[in-house]
Amino acid sequence: MSTMRAAVVHSFTEPLRIDERPLPAPGPHEALVRVEYTGVCHTDLHAARGDWPVKPELPFVPGHEGVGTVVAVGEHVERVRVGDLVGNAWLASACGACEFCESGWETLCPAQRNSGYSVDGSFGDHMLVDARFCPVIPAGVDLAAAAPILCAGVTVYKGLKVTEARPGQWMLVSGIGGLGHVAVQYAVAMGMRVVAIDVDETKLALARQHGAEVTVNADEHDAVGEITRATGGGVHGALVTAVNGKAFPQAVAGLRRGGTVALVGLPPESFPLDIFTTVLLGLTVRGSIVGTRRDMAEALDFFARGLVSPTYSVRRLEEINEVFGEMDRGGIDGRVVLSMA
Ligand SMILES: [Zn+2]
Ligand SMILES: [Zn+2]
Repeated sequence: MSTMRAAVVHSFTEPLRIDERPLPAPGPHEALVRVEYTGVCHTDLHAARGDWPVKPELPFVPGHEGVGTVVAVGEHVERVRVGDLVGNAWLASACGACEFCESGWETLCPAQRNSGYSVDGSFGDHMLVDARFCPVIPAGVDLAAAAPILCAGVTVYKGLKVTEARPGQWMLVSGIGGLGHVAVQYAVAMGMRVVAIDVDETKLALARQHGAEVTVNADEHDAVGEITRATGGGVHGALVTAVNGKAFPQAVAGLRRGGTVALVGLPPESFPLDIFTTVLLGLTVRGSIVGTRRDMAEALDFFARGLVSPTYSVRRLEEINEVFGEMDRGGIDGRVVLSMA
């Protein structure tokens, strides 16, 4: 019997182990994928530690930014063929029949399954994907760079969309880290005028390189006043990727009347929302979780046309515990992509 190699979580308090396990056979709707690269997301670290109320069942393989080649398909698979480039994503599958699935919001399906959490993910040299849901990677792209699009990219792209800001309008991107630097590029590609806010001057310089017209240091005394002045009354939309509690009230305060702030970062704390201002200025605060299959296809299309290029560094699968350690200390710029080679 042939085997595969994967980084496996056996306990929430111990490092991952690289195990040899039997190569799984695809079920009727599944494809078996030979993984080339997988991005490492903060969610993988939370999963490996069992940080969230609903914990993954042990043992499991994390990872939801994997890309590779289909090597076998189940009997009912029509959407992809052997040799196609595909990926996995946080949304591994959904029921297809609930009110959310029926209305094109499969990301809200209560019966959804999640890669690297409730189904084994991409931290291995092979993975199974549901061929009805897996992202299809456009031909000719850099596969290592494509990996971060599958979670970081689609998450910020969808977050920008749900602000309902239009081309020519102002978008505030809060936090220019792994998500934020990609968000600036999507917003510019979508025709928005970008204000970037962060506490780190190097990150603000990166945002300007990616096309931000205005950059504001969040630690400055009058950061919100600066946003309001530079945009002639505040931003139409704001996307908060920062996990710093202060970023949320700052983004809300930077909104123009009628503006919308979309939240995609997951800090452990809550933030106070001033109801009086929210009502009088007609503000909207909206949560946004990853993206649907359609959002994914659109996000990948921007990437394939060269409009978005995530910053990443490549490490080996065997280095996953060191990578998690660095992530925990906040020492990672851009995205880490693990190579299975
Ligand atoms: Zn993720
Ligand atoms: Zn459903």
